[in-house]
Amino acid sequence: MTQGEMETVEVFTSEGKGRGLKAAKEFWAGDVIFAEPAYAAVVFDSLTSLVCHTCFKRQEKLHRCGQCKFAHYCDRTCQKDAWLNHKHECSAIKAHGKVPNENIRLAARIMWRIEREGGGLTEGCLVSIDDLQNHVENFGEEEKTELRVDVESFLNFWPAQSQQFGMQYISHIFGVINCNGFTLSDQRGLQAVGVGIFPNLCLVNHDCWPNSTVIFNNGNHEAVRSMFHTQMRIELRALGKISPGEELTVSYIDFLNVSSERRQQLKKQYYFDCTCEHCQKGIKDDLMLAVKEGENKPSPDAVKDVLQFSKDTLEKINQARSEGIYHEVVKLCRECLKKQEPVLGDTNIYLLRILSIASEVLSYLQMFEEAAGYAKRMVDGYLKIYHPNNAQLGMAVMRAGVTHWHASLIEAGHGMICKAYAILLVTHGPTHPITKDLEVMRVQSEMELRMFQQNEFMYYKMREAALQNQKIQVMPEPTSEASSGLFHTKQ
Ligand SMILES: [Zn+2]
Ligand SMILES: [Zn+2]
Ligand SMILES: [Zn+2]
Repeated sequence: MTQGEMETVEVFTSEGKGRGLKAAKEFWAGDVIFAEPAYAAVVFDSLTSLVCHTCFKRQEKLHRCGQCKFAHYCDRTCQKDAWLNHKHECSAIKAHGKVPNENIRLAARIMWRIEREGGGLTEGCLVSIDDLQNHVENFGEEEKTELRVDVESFLNFWPAQSQQFGMQYISHIFGVINCNGFTLSDQRGLQAVGVGIFPNLCLVNHDCWPNSTVIFNNGNHEAVRSMFHTQMRIELRALGKISPGEELTVSYIDFLNVSSERRQQLKKQYYFDCTCEHCQKGIKDDLMLAVKEGENKPSPDAVKDVLQFSKDTLEKINQARSEGIYHEVVKLCRECLKKQEPVLGDTNIYLLRILSIASEVLSYLQMFEEAAGYAKRMVDGYLKIYHPNNAQLGMAVMRAGVTHWHASLIEAGHGMICKAYAILLVTHGPTHPITKDLEVMRVQSEMELRMFQQNEFMYYKMREAALQNQKIQVMPEPTSEASSGLFHTKQ
């Protein structure tokens, strides 16, 4: 990032929240407020041979670093780009004889960069690593013990010939990683694959109903075809009109929780009390807790019972899901829906959670018709709760659209794919791989819809051919746990 690009924002001291960033000019929905490469980033331990260590794309075939046999890259471009940051890591791994965990690797990468550039302000950064918050003073006993273990492992790994840092400084770095580590995802946005530090992003305060969103872009190194070679980076994007002087905010957590639960989660993970308007006024809490109205209004006890049953079932579902027993997940969802339907309102989050899991798992099992019914209800609920340009909403509508397409519900499917495309143009931007996938789906489903309207027989013929071509992808395996927040903190 050049200094010039950072003229779009300004650091200021926000009342009660400490430092913040405000807009220095006007922005509109979908504008990139700033883009920022990682100060340092690492691939998760479990994925080190499946994901490129430079661009964090998941690839079928990766090339291994011949020296340490640990680092993996897409190609020579990614390997070359990595060398400055991998050089010391490479020889330290060889000398140490084993690879330390992701936390230690990230701390070491940060320290080597500090050794190279100092801990003060570096180019394009509005805040230095030294100046980032670490919240070590808020750590509980368990976190303190983990910190001691991390510091010790770090000292074992850190080479004697590198610059030596004091215990307090090393603790600061681990504290920074703990509260500011940003989760990186693969190019399809399907899986969390690593963690990185983006100092400018750390300055953006939280709001449950934010005016910006942050998206990870793995970059593009197909320089031959596209002229521009872009590195992996995060982009802060405007969700609507932002006036000069307005504070920029992102949401650190998913909005789909009532205000009291969001506040609890923020306090536990990020150590602050949310005072945003939505929390203070409990905006949308009524929708998220909705129960059936009118003649068949359930008693408070009936509501309590169903909510407890839902919570218990969700636990069982997560267990079955993590073990990959998807037919059990489906059975639990159907049972739960039967109990919920006479009692809970259409926007109740416990109902929406079950609908979301049911549609995702049924799609994976290729039971598309039932999946589409649940997906439709989920989308209708989400549209009433989420900000119209929320990224999670966009992704959910996209999945629902694909499910409808698979269920031969071409009209509804095409409508959802268009809706998702409009949201992702804002939240992800037109060059993001997911948006590009959606664009292909939009064109294809539009063509099919036209054919369907003209000649149903031809449409079904063509569909057979299309299914053989597999242009619209089959559903990915459902992940066991949705990511719980923007930053990669411990639970
Ligand atoms: Zn790569
Ligand atoms: Zn190496
Ligand atoms: Zn809030």
